[in-house]
Amino acid sequence: MDSQQFREFGKAAIDYIADYYDNVKTQRVLPSVQPGFLISQLPENAPEGPENWREVFQDFRELIAPGATQWHSPQFHGYYPCGTSFASIIGSLLTNGLGNVGLTWVASPACTELEVVTMNWLGKLLGLPEEFLNCSRGPGGGVILGSATEAMFVCMLAAKSKMFHSLRKLDDNLDEHQTKTKFVAYTSNQSNAAVEKCGILGSMKMRLLKSDSNGRLRGDTLRCAFEEDKANGLVPCFVVATLGTTGICAFDPLYELGPICKEYNVWMHVDAAYAGAGFICPENRYLMQGMEYADSFDVNVHKWLLVNLDCSALWVRNGYDLIRTFDVQRVYLDDVNMDLRIPDYRHWQMPLGRQFRSLKLWTVMKIYGAEGLRKHIRSQINYAKYLAKLVRSDERFVVDPEPSMGLVCIRLVEGDKMTKKLLNNLVESRQTFMVGAYHRNRLVIRVAICSQLTTKTDVENSWAIIRNEASKLIMSDISDKY
Ligand SMILES: *Cc1c(COP(=O)(O)O)cnc(C)c1O
Repeated sequence: MDSQQFREFGKAAIDYIADYYDNVKTQRVLPSVQPGFLISQLPENAPEGPENWREVFQDFRELIAPGATQWHSPQFHGYYPCGTSFASIIGSLLTNGLGNVGLTWVASPACTELEVVTMNWLGKLLGLPEEFLNCSRGPGGGVILGSATEAMFVCMLAAKSKMFHSLRKLDDNLDEHQTKTKFVAYTSNQSNAAVEKCGILGSMKMRLLKSDSNGRLRGDTLRCAFEEDKANGLVPCFVVATLGTTGICAFDPLYELGPICKEYNVWMHVDAAYAGAGFICPENRYLMQGMEYADSFDVNVHKWLLVNLDCSALWVRNGYDLIRTFDVQRVYLDDVNMDLRIPDYRHWQMPLGRQFRSLKLWTVMKIYGAEGLRKHIRSQINYAKYLAKLVRSDERFVVDPEPSMGLVCIRLVEGDKMTKKLLNNLVESRQTFMVGAYHRNRLVIRVAICSQLTTKTDVENSWAIIRNEASKLIMSDISDKY
């Protein structure tokens, strides 16, 4: 493929993408395909010779794209939003165009420095305490990683290393392996499955502590767990607090957990993968009260801030905690740099190589401006409130708990069995997509406002789909009974 063909294919692809977003509202959310639909249509071997880009593009349009789920349809309400925007797509294109690997400063000076700048910009937009920012000239700083899982894993390993070194200061003969097996991590039973997985990856016992009736992990519960473990000769080491749980978007009170972590010298990581984006609007910051106790904070910019996967923004109070944990020098990487103003980001992450991810974050922040981003978040929160209002107008439904950020949880008054059937029917209709969660031992259907294209009419359309399915279900249930 030469540059002329690239121009042609590229322009056709851009047109395709623009059309895709123009028409996404008319598409069914879930594709009408069965498992194996694509495998059975594609050849078993890669083509021996080159194919013309037009044929390749035709295959994409006719065979592959029909099997995609419309994540950006306003009727897609599953999980949490997956960020995308034209600005971000262009940013990704430029990243791929430059094709840099920013493993050291010299490997791509722009890659390192734009990351520093954009992470300072974003950290300020979120209202993070100054000491987390690279521009504070202290040891804090931000880094872009691939996922919230990666971010908490990196922090867990740093916490482990830090805890061991602080214990060894008291006892020179401490055996590293033996000691580390005694370390314990804590989170709530409402935290994302990623947290539990982290414990497995990092070989640390992970206790899923009972949350209160509002899905929040409380200080007393954490203190009891610390005391219990200490009494058994174990060492509390790492806590993951969640701002915006995946099930019902509950917020752990950092102001309760933080002081206890401080008292026991335990690292507190804040997982704000989805809801963290809401803090760009000052009116939501009361939910992050206690942030000053955190050691690290992570938000998936690729969820609710219009940036495409993957872009997970992690800030740490002390970058040296990561550097000391991950610094492995080799001659070919010989540029020992302990100056955090221009960090050597390879010591802040698991892989060696790293993409120029900040370009898409930069493009989005420039094209939208802080006002544009805040407007996006506020309108999504308002659509969630509007949907809750519509649901409440129908006495067959209950909204429970109150909407939180862009998430509305609903259930049928008739109980779990009917709610479960309704959820199944909604997904089977392929017109919408939602998933369930449990709140106070009751099944709720999570309706997350996801698409950035959502309008008031779209919210009304989603509600019409839900209401109609409920009517059909309740009618057939009555006729079954008689
Ligand atoms: C989405 C989410 C995760 C998982 O994020 P990945 O980036 O896919 O690892 C973890 N925690 C919370 C609260 C989430 O919303």
